[in-house]
Formats: sequence, structure tokens, C-alpha cells
Amino acid sequence: MKGDFDVIVIGAGHAGLTAAICAAESGASVCVLEVSPKNVRGGNSKHTRNLRPMHESALHPLEGSYGFDEYMDDLLRVTDGETNQALATLTLEASANSVPWLKDHGVAFQPPLGGTLHLGRTNAFFLGGGKAVMNALFQCADKLNITVVYEALDIQLDVDNGVFRRVDYSHQGNTEHLTAASLVVAAGGFEANLEWLAEAWGDAALNFLVRGTPYNRGDILRQLLAADAVQIGDARQCHAVAIDGRAPQFDGGICSRIDCVPLGIVVNNQAERFYDEGEDFWPKRYAIWGRLVAAQPDQVAYSIIDSQSAGLFMPTVFPPVEAPSLRELAEKLGLPQESLSTTVDTFNHSIVEADFNHQILDGCHTQGLAIAKTHWARKLDKPPFRAYMLRPGITFTYLGVEVDANARVKFNDSTCTSNIFAAGEIMAGNVLGQGYLAGIGMTIGSVFGRIAGREAARHAR
Ligand SMILES: Cc1cc2nc3c(=O)[nH]c(=O)nc-3n(C[C@H](O)[C@H](O)[C@H](O)COP(=O)(O)OP(=O)(O)OC[C@H]3O[C@@H](n4cnc5c(N)ncnc54)[C@H](O)[C@@H]3O)c2cc1C
Repeated sequence: MKGDFDVIVIGAGHAGLTAAICAAESGASVCVLEVSPKNVRGGNSKHTRNLRPMHESALHPLEGSYGFDEYMDDLLRVTDGETNQALATLTLEASANSVPWLKDHGVAFQPPLGGTLHLGRTNAFFLGGGKAVMNALFQCADKLNITVVYEALDIQLDVDNGVFRRVDYSHQGNTEHLTAASLVVAAGGFEANLEWLAEAWGDAALNFLVRGTPYNRGDILRQLLAADAVQIGDARQCHAVAIDGRAPQFDGGICSRIDCVPLGIVVNNQAERFYDEGEDFWPKRYAIWGRLVAAQPDQVAYSIIDSQSAGLFMPTVFPPVEAPSLRELAEKLGLPQESLSTTVDTFNHSIVEADFNHQILDGCHTQGLAIAKTHWARKLDKPPFRAYMLRPGITFTYLGVEVDANARVKFNDSTCTSNIFAAGEIMAGNVLGQGYLAGIGMTIGSVFGRIAGREAARHAR
């Protein structure tokens, strides 16, 4: 082994720490460089709730079984085949060890709480959420004498012909240099870099809210692509949902979710409906609403319900805007009053009476509208009326670097075997070309974190 360390890991999220721990457990000396300060550490991983492991029989906290074929069918459906089959197979198979590995490293699990997504069979929920996961992994890293440098700013990689030579960065005002036999990149996607997003989405991206860390700006990804790493995925592919428009620009996390969309109507800032709010159960549809709102003028929309929907959806962090009449609601929201009244009147008159039941696909639908509502359609006529402003909330991007089954980054035209490995969001596009399957983000980080750490240590030896 040579260099200051055997392995340097960039990014101290779930994928990076998993890699660091596996490398250290393989006997390597490991240094993790993290741009964020310690008090906000944990990247996007700190916001998570669950991962999706394959299991042939019940595996606490998971009920029943979720076998390879069903999992692969789900993945192929959401990605529409946009996945590397070999890496997808590897991910699914290795995911069977994710829960035991995390338990061995101090992570506790719990059954899903009532009212959350109905994922008790497919998704293992972390006790204490992602923050508890990250705290457990940082504790492990500490016990393994892994060096973690927080506020490692402006990291510059020296990569020559696909081979990592050294890293320069600034720390507490000093310029530092480190060398290592292997490098693991686990610095997330570029979802917090609105300017980069705007290259793909146009100026609309400047109105996006970022659900996670402000530090995933894609700087390491850009450097690798500039050093001729093979790019995977498309800059427009990402996970985005519609969230409370009052959420902060960054790091709002999961509590900014708005779950009442299927119970009422959603209008744009012209007070016009633009999509079937009752297409399917919300957990199956919520991930398409980020893009739908992104396509509306000023990237804003309003979810409108009446008093009948109170208590039928997860409570929100911020209270709704409320008014005794639609006109007053429109005024408070800054929507055209005539237009909102017309939209609601037309909607109310189109409803085919049936038994409303928000727990099943109840068939309560509209008739004769250009944009139908196919379930849970009932008149909005019981004041007070309530509304939530929605904005697109980007979760993470899929464009990344291509890897092989050893998590080794591929380079165009390189004549050398690279000593650079990747894990997590920065390579998630290998498995997730488009669409999303709840819990697969952490699954990819868990699987490729373990592979990258093990292989980086092996390469160093
Ligand atoms: C609100 C929210 C909820 C989510 N819920 C779930 C869920 O329940 N289940 C699931 O599977 N997925 C979920 N995801 C997605 C999940 O967070 C990611 O797929 C996963 O955390 C990625 O792990 P990672 O280690 O690659 O990235 P991260 O955890 O984001 O870690 C990347 C790290 O790299 C650091 N970094 C970035 N750039 C640099 C740089 N230039 N130099 C040094 N360090 C750098 C960052 O500061 C960060 O600490 C959620 C995401 C969000 C935002």
C-alpha cells in the first residue's frame, strides 16, 4: 500500500460511509473528505426513511417475501427497461444482505407507522429515520479509526488516464494535498446545483426547491466527466415530487410533503386544472407531480380541498390557506377569482355520483371534462375551503458515471485500470435510468457502497 491513506472516500453520506467502513474492515486506512460542516452532516441520506431489500422470507421488519422476480419486474416497470440488467441483477441480489449489514453496524429498524406508504412487505423502515442511520455509521467509522475531514472545500482531483493521483482541497484556510492508492467517489448527484439543472430544464429549474442537502452540487461528478469518465444517464432524469411551496430552498426533507392532492383538485396560477388528481393512490402517483408542476407557468400549483377532506390525509407542517368562500380563497392565493369559480363549478357539475371512499379506487369520477378526475371526485362545496401551494421539489438526479460490477468507474479510451470506484447517487443512473421505486436510492448506496469499499481496499493491497 502507498500514499497518505490506502483509500480516500469523497462524500460522507450513506454510500460513502458504507464504503469507508467496508474498506477499513478489509484492513485499509481510510480518510473521508466531506464538504459539509459536521452539524449538518449526512447528505441526503439523513432525510431517508427506508430501503428496499430483496427477501425470500420474512426478515425483520419486513413481512412476507419480496423475491428477485417481483423486484426485477417492479424495477423494469418504473424504469421502462432503462437499466443495466447485469448491474440491476447484482443490486437486487446483494440487497438481500443490506438489512443484516446495517443491523451489524448499529442501525435499528421498525415496522412502518400507520398512515405512511403501504410498504411493510417491500421496504425496511429505519428506527429514527436516516439521521439515526447516519449517526450509527459515523460511530462505526469512529471505532474503525476512519479519519473524517469535515469542511473539505473545493476538492480538486488529479486524474490521469483514468487513474487517480492525488486530491487537493482547502481546509480551515489551508491548502491540503492527499494521496491514496484508491479513491471512492460518493459525493451525490447535482440536484442542489440549480444552474446545472437549468442547462437541462431551462429557467424553470431556478424555481425548483431542493428537498435535500445544499452540498450535492455535482462538483466531483463534473471533474470525473471532464477527466473522460463514461457518462451514464440523462440530465433531465431525476426524482422530483410536488411539495409545500413554503418549504425552504434546501434540506426541507420529507415533512414538506402534501398528501391531499387526490382528495380535491389541483390548479395552476390561471386557476385551471391540468392533470387527473385521482389517477391512482397517492403513493403510486406522487412522484409524477414534481414534473407536472414544473411544467406549469412559474412552476407553481395549488391543491384545493374543502372541509370534507379534513383528517383524511397526513397532517402538514404548515397550515393551509383557508377561506369561507372560493372567491376569498382565490384572493388570498392571488389566483384569478372568476377563473377559480368557473373551474370549481365546472368540476362540481361533472361529477358522477358514487360512494366516495378514499381508501379504495372508488370510481367516483367526472364526466365530460377535458381533464378527467377518475377517482375520489366529489363536489367541492363544503366551506371552509383550504389550499396548499405546490412547487417542484427535486430529490436527486440520475446522471452519473458508468461503473462495472466492481463499482469501478469506466473511462473512455483509458489504457489503465482505474483506481476510482463509485457508490450512491453519483452512479445510481446505472440501475435507475428513469422513474423511481421507493427505497431503491438507499439500496443502490448500500450495495455499491459495500462493493466500492471492498474493491478499493483490494486494489490498494
Ligand atoms: C427528502 C429525501 C427523502 C428521501 N427518502 C428516501 C428513502 O426513504 N429511501 C431511499 O432509498 N432514498 C431516499 N432518498 C434518496 C436518498 O437520500 C439517496 O438515494 C441516498 O441518500 C444517496 O446516498 P449518497 O451517499 O449517494 O448521497 P448523500 O447522502 O447525499 O451523500 C453525499 C455526500 O457527499 C457530500 N459532497 C457532495 N459534494 C461534495 C464535494 N464536492 N466534496 C466533498 N463532499 C461532497 C455531501 O455533502 C454529502 O454528505 C431521499 C432523498 C431525499 C432528499
